[in-house]
Amino acid sequence: MNIYSLPSKISALLFDMDGTLYTNPGYAQLQIDLAIEKLAHVRGKTFEEMQREIADYRKRWTDAHNGRKTSLGNAFLAFGISIEESARWREELYTPSDYLSPNLALRDALERLKALGLKRALVTNNPVSIARKTLAALGVERIFDVCVGLDTCYASKPNEAPFIKAAELLGVERVECISIGDRFDVDIDIPLKLGMGGILVDGVEDVYEIAEFLTGSLSETRRS
Ligand SMILES: [Mg+2]
Repeated sequence: MNIYSLPSKISALLFDMDGTLYTNPGYAQLQIDLAIEKLAHVRGKTFEEMQREIADYRKRWTDAHNGRKTSLGNAFLAFGISIEESARWREELYTPSDYLSPNLALRDALERLKALGLKRALVTNNPVSIARKTLAALGVERIFDVCVGLDTCYASKPNEAPFIKAAELLGVERVECISIGDRFDVDIDIPLKLGMGGILVDGVEDVYEIAEFLTGSLSETRRS
């Protein structure tokens, strides 16, 4: 876990989903592979050819952007697949409940953050319907106040629009939000530039620690 910045007043937490609220490298990779397979089919290429082209494109993008990385959705845009189309493909291809199960430790951590009075948003590059199915599979669907997905702003993180929208929907100032996610370039870099706090996690276990840490520091602040 790496805490980049914390706001002086914390009102809300913006959570990434995949790789943050669950750690399942196999399912995370499968989501990428299924989308590439679909693109390969549409373009009349083999999976391997398509995978190579996407990897080459992402490498060129990274080289041209000072080592930063972009999302798969943004890479698909460069291959002529709109964000709307990407969202539809994901809805058709992904079944979170086949890979994920309820996580009581996560629920407990999120409940503790809720009890501190912090608002909770999900900000994901998956469509909202897949986000809701994922939260349901993890047993935490009722804990989030808002869910911002690929089809909310039709923009893929690291685009700033989903982060701004989440703060707006929660009715909080951007500078009172902390973005929490597992990819610096996708989840943390832009929120920091928007004046938000940012915490980079290695997986869901770090979310338990964040709950622990914020419970300690916020109750301390409120006592003093
Ligand atoms: Mg992620």
